[in-house]
Amino acid sequence: MTELRSLLWFRRDLRLSDHPALLAAAADGEVVPLFVVDPALWGPSGDVRRAYLLRSLRALDASLDGRLVVEEGDPVAVLPAVAARTSARRVHVTADTGPYGRRRDEAVEHALAADDRELVRTGTNYSIGPGTLLTGSGSPFQVFTPFSRAWREHGWPRPAVSPGDARFASGAGDGVDGPHWPAEPDLGDLALPAAGEKAALARWHEFLEERIDDYATDRDRPDQNGTSQLSAPLKWGELHPRTILADLSRKRSAGAETYRTEIAWREFYADVLWHRPETAREYYRPQLEALAYTEPGEAFRAWSEGRTGFPVVDAGMRQMRAEGWIHNRVRMIVASFLVKDLHVDWRHGAREFMHFLRDGDLASNNHGWQWVAGSGTDAAPFFRVFNPVTQGKKFDPQGDYVRRYVPELRHLAGAKAHEPWDAADGYASGYPERIVDHAHERKVALDDYARIRS
Ligand SMILES: Cc1cc2nc3c(=O)[nH]c(=O)nc-3n(C[C@H](O)[C@H](O)[C@H](O)COP(=O)(O)OP(=O)(O)OC[C@H]3O[C@@H](n4cnc5c(N)ncnc54)[C@H](O)[C@@H]3O)c2cc1C
Repeated sequence: MTELRSLLWFRRDLRLSDHPALLAAAADGEVVPLFVVDPALWGPSGDVRRAYLLRSLRALDASLDGRLVVEEGDPVAVLPAVAARTSARRVHVTADTGPYGRRRDEAVEHALAADDRELVRTGTNYSIGPGTLLTGSGSPFQVFTPFSRAWREHGWPRPAVSPGDARFASGAGDGVDGPHWPAEPDLGDLALPAAGEKAALARWHEFLEERIDDYATDRDRPDQNGTSQLSAPLKWGELHPRTILADLSRKRSAGAETYRTEIAWREFYADVLWHRPETAREYYRPQLEALAYTEPGEAFRAWSEGRTGFPVVDAGMRQMRAEGWIHNRVRMIVASFLVKDLHVDWRHGAREFMHFLRDGDLASNNHGWQWVAGSGTDAAPFFRVFNPVTQGKKFDPQGDYVRRYVPELRHLAGAKAHEPWDAADGYASGYPERIVDHAHERKVALDDYARIRS
């Protein structure tokens, strides 16, 4: 008698521990682990995200003793073909809750059903599935604080048990082809942190033991190593937020509490996107679309390449190109500068971020941008405009962050790096002059806001 088999289709859950869909697949018999390189997602990804994904897949493959099957193509065609080839009746997945993933999975489900096969969704990439929590009146949450209260009151499931005796199908002899990896893009000097489940868990444990207690005070300081840098592992599901929340429940400190709140932000934006999938591309508050925006031109390129003449803005954009990551405080500063000083529609900035960031995530990125642009969930009104100089001096008081990424300012000591215009030799190393007058552009933005409000 042939042994029962199921497919486990990995997407944003590139790990083996705390993996409910893996347990469900293992309960069906031998598991064929599969990843599909989908041109609809691969095409628009930047090199950094592609490289990170490939390294994460390689780590997953190593944990599976080289058994991961990698196929390329439209999942609607690939899944039925691989399921037929491997005689798997069920395809197990962690539910994708994003707009594209939901549509794609419905199409795959129909294609499988035509051949009497089933798509089984178990769990999501969040501690509470997006769409689960509703306000007392049964409507979606639009404001973070009540969402986060409801999220805590609801509580989270414990991490899933270890896959233990899960058996993975091996080798072409079993009808499983060898992997067809896409080539890894050349990243030049860009240094990525180690990818994969083991590296993510090691980073989390190191953060939990060494740095979490200071997180509440250090997290806003881009000059310090105060955050966990776990956004890419969370994006790819190299570790699950359930694992993080279970570990946090054993810690009592302001830092642990603040970290929980940041995980809640991630869950909030996924929930908002679940209810309003069009906000991945459109304004959450369409009224703000009527502002007088400027088409991206030379000023946009100067912003993107870190040549605006505003030190903390330039340091942030150069950090993005050097590491595929930017500190959260600086993401807010550079986003505010693009929208409120250069008057460029947030969607251009969000696209640039999605291209360069290794953690590029539709929900967190596009709603992070909408928050800054004042067009998103209601915590940040439009008239809160970041001053790039005072922000820089407040959160990078000694100028260390600026000097790290902007070599033309390294000759300026301490906070002087934030104001080269005040130093006699401020421009001696070729740093560019400011491309706009912040006070003037702030007024332009606020006047325009007053215009659309009236
Ligand atoms: C304009 C803008 C764009 C952003 N784009 C992304 C993005 O594409 N992908 C992404 O994961 N995050 C994004 N963020 C949120 C935040 O900046 C990053 O999650 C954070 O900087 C990642 O670094 P970390 O892992 O060291 O964070 P930590 O401070 O260690 O936080 C721990 C985790 O909490 C979550 N988190 C923290 N802050 C936020 C937040 N404001 N919103 C949602 N989740 C949060 C992340 O998963 C993060 O890894 C964006 C924020 C802004 C303002």
